[in-house]
This record gives sequence, structure tokens and C-alpha cells, in this order.
Amino acid sequence: MSEPLPLVFESPRRGQPPRHWADLTPTQRRELVEAAGHRAYRARQLSAHYFEGLRTDPGEWTDLPETVRASLAASFMPDLLREVRTQTADHGDTVKTLWRLYDNALVESVLMRYPDRVTMCVSSQAGCGMACPFCATGQGGLQRNLSTAEIVEQVVDGSRRLRHGDIDGHRVSNVVFMGMGEPMANYKAVIGAVRQLVTPTPDGLGMSARGITVSTVGLVPRMQQLATEGIPVTLALSLHAADDELRDELVPINTRWNVDEVVNAAWEYARQTKRRVSIEYALIRDVNDQAFRADLLAKVLKRRGNWGWVHVNLIPLNPTPGSRWTASRRRDEAEFVRRLRDKGVPVTVRDTRGREIDGACGQLAATDR
Ligand code: SF4
Repeated sequence: MSEPLPLVFESPRRGQPPRHWADLTPTQRRELVEAAGHRAYRARQLSAHYFEGLRTDPGEWTDLPETVRASLAASFMPDLLREVRTQTADHGDTVKTLWRLYDNALVESVLMRYPDRVTMCVSSQAGCGMACPFCATGQGGLQRNLSTAEIVEQVVDGSRRLRHGDIDGHRVSNVVFMGMGEPMANYKAVIGAVRQLVTPTPDGLGMSARGITVSTVGLVPRMQQLATEGIPVTLALSLHAADDELRDELVPINTRWNVDEVVNAAWEYARQTKRRVSIEYALIRDVNDQAFRADLLAKVLKRRGNWGWVHVNLIPLNPTPGSRWTASRRRDEAEFVRRLRDKGVPVTVRDTRGREIDGACGQLAATDR
């Protein structure tokens, strides 16, 4: 689908996306609907349309009088995402969409169908300020944080695609915050979006917290805060190296919170939430994939003599065109896995979805700038 002409939004708040239904709590919705001169129960009707029916077109709100539909839609359901391009891969099981936001910032989301689940990978920021050198998004810097509704809208779009049959599947069962951006650097909006996802219908999307994964490069205070929210999402720590010398280079925020500190915070998260933490490790040829680094990783992750708190997810790097960072050789990857398994570390190699459509985080947007 091609992009229409420049967007006109209803009076955006200065420097921020326009306010949307998905930014609000149920109480705020009722209050604002009443303040706009409508009956309070309209709020529940609107929530049912948005979160259950996935309907934002006021023409479909047939249980509301025609006279109120347009004003409610204008006040609460502005268009936040405008589709620039959608690509499919993996025989239609992967759908990647590039979005243009109200201020022309670009972000992307990816819908992936697996035999047992449908996962939506969402962006939490336009760009990213973490500057990981192997990542396309990191090269462009941070443009801005996304609002709660801009994040929720990515999930609602995925749900709508399923409902319309663009991709087979029943419902979005999993959401992973692994698209563009560092979720913990936009904590308030991200936790706001998580709340909208797990709030039961019709006030939210009614997903299970167990199906939600929030990733981080290791912003320790936010990891600690997440553990206190009472929403047991899975935490994914992007470690990529088990020693400070290499991690300082691959994940520059390591100079602020080092390997020991981030692994301790991850362990503490698992202890408090009883949720197994996922350790993400992108395998990069001749950089972090040597056998001795697998041994080092096992050593760093071992806590109180057991592996029950952790799962290692190895990610074959999807190389950015023109980049010196590339995927490991098959034999090095296999040896890395073998070393971890020999020590009892629970480990899997991530299925690399969307390779043929530049499926690594940030690449689609990067090529469009
Ligand atoms: S890898 Fe993640 S945290 Fe690092 S620059 Fe890319 S998007 Fe940001």
C-alpha cells in the first residue's frame, strides 16, 4: 500500500502526538467523555469498539447516535500511525510494516505467526540513543519517545490484520518490545502500554502478562522498577558479551552499568517475579562468538549454583548492508551452543524471521531515511 499525502492531525499537543483513547485510564476516559458533554457510559461503548472490536471508524459504531460519533472520534481516536510500506516474508508468516508518525518520524513493527502463537514485535522509540555499533537503528540516534497509544496502536493493527485474514491466526498472543528503541529509556509510556495490553476487555486488550516480553540493554534502575510493578512480564536482557571490555564496545551503556550489575539486576528480577529472564546474545562473527566466550557467559550467568532463573537466546546477527558486523559461521555457532549445553545452561538459537526483508531491528526504517 502506498503512502497518502502529508497527514493532518487533530490539534496535536505541542511536541507530542495527539492524545488517544489508548493513552487514558478507564477513569480518565469517563471523565473526559463527560467533560466533552457526553454520557459517561459512552466511554465503555468506545472502549468496546476499540479494544474488543478493533474499530476506529465511527461509521462502524452503530450503537452510538450518529450525532455523537464524529466528535468522539475527533477527540479520542486520531490517526497515530500511517502505513508507509508493508512487506511479507516466510511464506506470508511474517508481516513487517513501516509507519510514519504524526511528526514524520518512522518506526516499524513486525507480526510473526508460529505454529503455536502469533507474536507482535513493537517499537518503543523512533530511533534509539543507545548507539550499539552493530545495529542499524543505533546509527541514526534517538528521534523521540513513542507515546503509550503509538505503541498500543501497533498491537491493535496486528490484531486487526489477523481478524481481516491478512495473516492466518486467531489473535496476537505475544508482544515483544524488541523493535526500534530501548524500552526502558521510555519507561513511562512502555509500562503504560503494557497496562493497556493486560487490562481485561473491554477496558484493555486482555492479554496475559506471560505473553509480553520487555527487552533492555541494561538500564538497572528501570529493571528494578519493573520488578515492582506487579505485572510479571518476561524481561529480556540484551547482554551480547560477558566481559566488560567487549561489552563496553558492543553495548556502550555498559560503561554506566557493567556486566556484573546488569546480570545481578536480571537475577533479582527473576527472583522477585518468579519469571525466567531471557538473556539475548547476538552472535557476531569473530567478535563475540569464540568458544571461550561461551564458557565465560556460563560462568557469569551461574547464580547460586542453578540455571532455573535464566534462558539464553542466541541470535544469529542479521547483517546491515555495508557493515563489518556479520553473522557467525555455522560451526562457531554450533560450538557455542554445545559449550553452553554441556554446562547445563538452557539455550536456544532464535529463529531468524524476515531475513529477506531486512528483518533485523531498525533496518527497514534505516533504508527509508
Ligand atoms: S540494539 Fe537495541 S538498544 Fe542497541 S542501538 Fe539497536 S535498538 Fe538501540
